[in-house]
Amino acid sequence: MKRYCNFLLSSVCRPEQLTFLWLMASSNTFLDDVRVSPEIIDPHKDEDNVEVIETMSDHIQHSPKSNVAAASNVRELLECPVCLNAMYPPIHQCSNGHTLCSGCKPRVHNRCPTCRHELGNIRCLALEKVAASLELPCKYQSFGCLGIYPYYCKLKHESLCVYRPYNCPYAGSECTIVGDIPYLVTHLKDDHKVDMHNGSTFNHRYVKSNPHEVENATWMLTVFSCFGQYFCLHFEAFQLGMAPVYIAFLRFMGDDSEAKNYSYTLEVGANGRKMVWQGVPRSIRDSHRKVRDSYDGLVIQRNIALFFSGGDRKELKLRVTGRILKER
Ligand SMILES: [Zn+2]
Ligand SMILES: [Zn+2]
Ligand SMILES: [Zn+2]
Ligand SMILES: [Zn+2]
Repeated sequence: MKRYCNFLLSSVCRPEQLTFLWLMASSNTFLDDVRVSPEIIDPHKDEDNVEVIETMSDHIQHSPKSNVAAASNVRELLECPVCLNAMYPPIHQCSNGHTLCSGCKPRVHNRCPTCRHELGNIRCLALEKVAASLELPCKYQSFGCLGIYPYYCKLKHESLCVYRPYNCPYAGSECTIVGDIPYLVTHLKDDHKVDMHNGSTFNHRYVKSNPHEVENATWMLTVFSCFGQYFCLHFEAFQLGMAPVYIAFLRFMGDDSEAKNYSYTLEVGANGRKMVWQGVPRSIRDSHRKVRDSYDGLVIQRNIALFFSGGDRKELKLRVTGRILKER
């Protein structure tokens, strides 16, 4: 290891990287000691061994601290100086040892962004290897995830972590708010002024004057609270190919695995005609646009919608009734 690191110093690493390589190396040694200690602690052993236990517990008190410090220092080293994102292989470096992520490399016109020297094509294998030895908590720790992952697995886990925050489900604007479900419910109430309803059945009227002028319109979202969960009822006008249509669908405020525990029905009609849709609410992990574009809801052609509206076809007046059901 010593020879390996000296070689790294002269060839690929900048000095501060080496310091942390040594820190990592020394803290790994401590870790090995700590792992041994539980087998040593035994109340029936003689006095000599008691002394050993005390020595070992001293190690236990100090080593996790230095290991955490080393890990966070290495983590800083793994931050790309240009985009500030975590770097993943291939990690590049200039001849002076300044590192750069592979996403930023093509954008710096072969000049090191730190020292302006020519960048060339040098890979920082040492840093890549140090990264491989790191284990870090999921970035959604504050949302409740207790997972700890090897550096190279962390990104994949985080993209699927069930604790990752949800995007705001409001469809009417490009809202960038993210958060857990209770936070988003409060946000929908306070900032989007959505209609909140308690209960699993509903009876809604959607009204629009001049429906022929509306090509893409989104009506106010309604949020239902039932079975201890929250559901969003969407109603939109859009073009399906050349045909103007309306769509109503329900989204579940939670993950897809839980959404499958519910179903819902929607009915629209008038003059003795009726259209019925039975569906499964989609998780708000899927954007409202994705759900709409997959037609996963009650789709009503504009002609029939205006027929259901009665009158002179100048105004859209639809009554949509529905029910949310718990399947399991
Ligand atoms: Zn970068
Ligand atoms: Zn440089
Ligand atoms: Zn996680
Ligand atoms: Zn929002």
